[in-house]
Amino acid sequence: MSAATRPFDLPADLVEDFEDAHPLDILRWAGEKFGDRLVVTASFGDATLVHLVSQAIPSAEIVMLDTGYLFAETKWYAEELRQRFNLKLRVVEPPADAQPNQWQTDTDGCCAARKVAPLAEVLEGRTAWVTGLRRADSASRADAPIVHFDPFRNVTKINPMATWSDDDVAHYAAMELLPEHPLTQRGYASIGCWPCTRPVEAGEDARAGRWSGSGKTECGLHSSPGSTLGGVAEPGP
Ligand code: SF4
Repeated sequence: MSAATRPFDLPADLVEDFEDAHPLDILRWAGEKFGDRLVVTASFGDATLVHLVSQAIPSAEIVMLDTGYLFAETKWYAEELRQRFNLKLRVVEPPADAQPNQWQTDTDGCCAARKVAPLAEVLEGRTAWVTGLRRADSASRADAPIVHFDPFRNVTKINPMATWSDDDVAHYAAMELLPEHPLTQRGYASIGCWPCTRPVEAGEDARAGRWSGSGKTECGLHSSPGSTLGGVAEPGP
């Protein structure tokens, strides 16, 4: 582990304060602490995270991992939001050697090649990673911390919206007049790649439409063995 990313203790009172903090305040803290060593990844399933980032850390780079299988509507929507909120958007293409149509036989391998590996490259040289992960997303995310050191990726991971409910997100979107993803009205509550996403029925979990019927619930971006709560990576030079 390099000195630039050595974890140090995050004060307990700060961790506690973040539980009641607005995501904008958490993002402002992150922006001041990590500066241009921070990067944001967004799925562009909705506009909430990128709007928050545009208000709190307008200079932050926002990465969209283009797996090659994103809905055309998602790419259109990301460009709309880039223009509307003046986002510093970077679209990362899948590796040239990614196997075509691997999702048909090996979704874990496909996600590893088209999401997890590109993320590792995005995080090279960074000390902080901001995501839109929320505890309300699914049972497997119910204990997601707001800030923690991810030793697997060697960065401080910041989930500023971790405590927000679906109603909180809807309220923020209504107050800020945020545009919806074009597929939301067609029942897509959580939007990933087109081969692995279906609309959900009333009463289903938002993520029930992802890898439906396969038992798979996560792509691997948020899986990290040995995550350490309460530590952050030093900003570095
Ligand atoms: S969600 Fe599906 S298409 Fe997208 S990277 Fe994973 S397996 Fe491949």
